[in-house]
Amino acid sequence: MISCEAPGLAPVDQALATLLAGIVPQQRTERVALADAAGRILAETISSPMNVPPAANSAMDGYAIRAADVQQATELTLIGRSMAGHPFDGCVSAGECVRIMTGAVMPAGADTVVMQENVTLPQEGTVAFAQAAKGGDNVRAAGEDIRHGQVLFSAGRRLRAADTGLLASIGIDSVMVSARLRVALLATGDELVEPGSPLADGQIYQSNSFGVGALLRRFGCEVTSMGTIEDCEAALRDAFQRADALADVVLTTGGVSVGEADYTRDVLESLGRMDFWRLAIKPGKPFACGRLRSSLFIGLPGNPVSALVTLHQLALPMLRKLQGEEAVQPVRLPAKAAAMLRKRPGRLDLQRGIWSLADDGGVQVIPTGGQSSGVLSSLSEANCFIVLEQERGRVEPGETVTIELFDGLLL
Ligand code: AMP
Ligand code: MG
Repeated sequence: MISCEAPGLAPVDQALATLLAGIVPQQRTERVALADAAGRILAETISSPMNVPPAANSAMDGYAIRAADVQQATELTLIGRSMAGHPFDGCVSAGECVRIMTGAVMPAGADTVVMQENVTLPQEGTVAFAQAAKGGDNVRAAGEDIRHGQVLFSAGRRLRAADTGLLASIGIDSVMVSARLRVALLATGDELVEPGSPLADGQIYQSNSFGVGALLRRFGCEVTSMGTIEDCEAALRDAFQRADALADVVLTTGGVSVGEADYTRDVLESLGRMDFWRLAIKPGKPFACGRLRSSLFIGLPGNPVSALVTLHQLALPMLRKLQGEEAVQPVRLPAKAAAMLRKRPGRLDLQRGIWSLADDGGVQVIPTGGQSSGVLSSLSEANCFIVLEQERGRVEPGETVTIELFDGLLL
């Protein structure tokens, strides 16, 4: 643990590993209807109780045959039909065929479907085939999509739209998921005013609860915004205690930087176990994490860009683990810097960038204007992070850099 007294800054990956090691997944689960399950974190392992499709069926509108009967141009006797939902209940014997529609169950005895475009009907009850059929053509095998007993999803998966369709296809109509994390959000700072009220001299509008709250809701949390808390020991103590009582996670912005009024630290340390980090990250750096009586405490920096970047890069991996979700790898790709990128060695820099396709088809990236941690428009205009390694210095146009595509949470 590197505290704020220690010299140097903690490398981000090491800090994150330490932070994650301290998280114990919560055990609260609930059953939800499948229609409400997309985006939720599965809390059970699901094996299929059946084959999908449950029976072999036709992939085409046509005729079900025995391939051995159609090895050259030939005619077969039509003995019935198999429609979707209305299977043929007889058996196809040598010299016979059955009219079949897409999705209809293959009749017993038949092994192949010939498309209707490839036959003629010379007379009532007779079907003429012009060429040899290949055994198994146009038949979807039972269990082709999912086999009986197959593990479909493990606990920890964030269910996607297609997943809920797959679960429906095996007859499941509800699933056990992790309870949503309850997050209490507090902004600290005497200079802050809620939007909608007039600004006095020296005041600014409180914006963090909006950006941070929106991202957390999209992530799946139940967010309670507790407004702005003034920089005063009694007010902070009272707010932290109220937040602790109602939430799984107490998340604050501001008030954790070095030189910030010390009572934030004193109050936090008196209420629980707290670590104050100085991270080798830009934007970011000050970051607090610990436990209050009954909740996880995360203190994000106050600068609006720093708050969102540290939320996304550090707090979300912790919240994923807390809610039993598997780790998610961000999508990082090489790109060509199409402009100079200012950077000094010493901190991992997550600059805000715009990637696009260059004329040669490669991926290129430019920064979104001012990269100061207070310039929130730089994040609003961006579609990716430009991830500049801790030891890297200034980047010249044409150099290759790593970009991290924004996920659906940041867009
Ligand atoms: P702090 O971490 O409290 O020192 O705040 C760093 C900077 O972020 C200061 O310029 C604050 O005014 C600003 N800031 C802190 N909290 C917020 C907030 N909720 N909304 C907008 N700006 C903030
Ligand atoms: Mg402050």
